[in-house]
Amino acid sequence: MTHAPDPRRAVPRTDVVLAEPRIAEAVARLGRSLVKGAVVAAQQRARQGEIPPGTVADQALAALPRVATRLRPVLNATGVVLHTNLGRAPLSAAAREALTVAAGTCDVELDLATGARGRRGAEMVEALLAATPGAGGAHVVNNGAAALALVAATFAAGREIVVSRGELVEIGDGFRIPDLVESTGARLREVGTTNRTHLADYERAVGPDTAFVLKVHPSNFRVEGFTSAVGPEELAGLGVPVVVDIGSGLLTRHPLLPDEPDAASMLARGAGLVTASGDKLLGGPQAGLILGDGELVERVRRFPLARAMRVDKLTLAALEATVRGPLPPVRAALDATAPDLRRRAETLAAGLPGATVVDSLSTVGGGGAPGVTLPSAALALPESYGAALRAGDPAVLGRLEGGRCLLDLRAIDPSDDELLARCVRAAVP
Ligand SMILES: *Cc1c(COP(=O)(O)O)cnc(C)c1O
Repeated sequence: MTHAPDPRRAVPRTDVVLAEPRIAEAVARLGRSLVKGAVVAAQQRARQGEIPPGTVADQALAALPRVATRLRPVLNATGVVLHTNLGRAPLSAAAREALTVAAGTCDVELDLATGARGRRGAEMVEALLAATPGAGGAHVVNNGAAALALVAATFAAGREIVVSRGELVEIGDGFRIPDLVESTGARLREVGTTNRTHLADYERAVGPDTAFVLKVHPSNFRVEGFTSAVGPEELAGLGVPVVVDIGSGLLTRHPLLPDEPDAASMLARGAGLVTASGDKLLGGPQAGLILGDGELVERVRRFPLARAMRVDKLTLAALEATVRGPLPPVRAALDATAPDLRRRAETLAAGLPGATVVDSLSTVGGGGAPGVTLPSAALALPESYGAALRAGDPAVLGRLEGGRCLLDLRAIDPSDDELLARCVRAAVP
């Protein structure tokens, strides 16, 4: 009687695999824990007979990420330009290069001409002011929610903020603007109704205890029909500052998104301060912008809580490069025309047997412009490609629709088209 060799016997020991030169090099580059995890997983597969025991090191190496993070790059073929689950805005090449400068030691708080301490973020503030007509001051914090919270804490702790009932927005993941603002110790004085609020409603509510009137852009829903709202130009006459949370981070008007508020227009219409996100339609890193009247911004900047919301040098660098540099990918994605997208799709489909080109509708996504759809083009593949493409490297996230897997090209950078084609060819549905 013969016995098949026990596969467990042949599986090399962990310390032996870790001592292999290629594996040792990976440990030096990626750290021991990631590499050891991959080795242990490969040993496990070898014991179960899924792979030959002699290939444990190869399998472990193949499973390792290229850099020491388990975050995996994803090509966004969903047609949603700002996909919250994919980290919202991808950074421009200029912003990525700025990150590599900031990643080392840099003059973030040093005046190299004099050798004395410099003002942190001065270049970034200058860039924001140059790009936002009407802004006398700018301050940057960690995200849009922090921007609004800091403004509320600075001016309204123990006082009242007057806000329309139609603008009490839930921003996502269960977080709500009213709860956020009240957590700073400010009291909300709600006026009007869900669909209609008039100037007289605000007039009745504003009094000696009012710190400011707040307007919040309903950036993720739309109210249609019998509606009315009051603009900042009318609210500016009430004798208290008007703060507008525009959400999206557009600094100036975007012609394709006429209903999306921008900072310059809001300031021109009488807002004292505007708050916004950096990683939505502005197309930069996660950040919160506070723009507007120079004295109001200075009070925000000097308020103690500002120190707890301070952004790091990476954010400062990427934001400055986004504002000064060429149009970021988000803006290129918005501006792409349907015929351009269709041409790209046809070129791709010609090299991909089984793929067809279909019309698609893309959206702006979590960052703003609710209800706006942009005509686009997509590659259509069998539905089973959905999971196969998600498993690839880079992963590709498409949209499952009508029994097919659609790869919408709007949010794909044109320079990634060939990479997308390689991912489709490599996918095993
Ligand atoms: C997105 C959004 C926020 C929150 O901004 P974050 O950058 O996600 O913190 C606040 N207000 C409005 C109107 C928004 O659209």
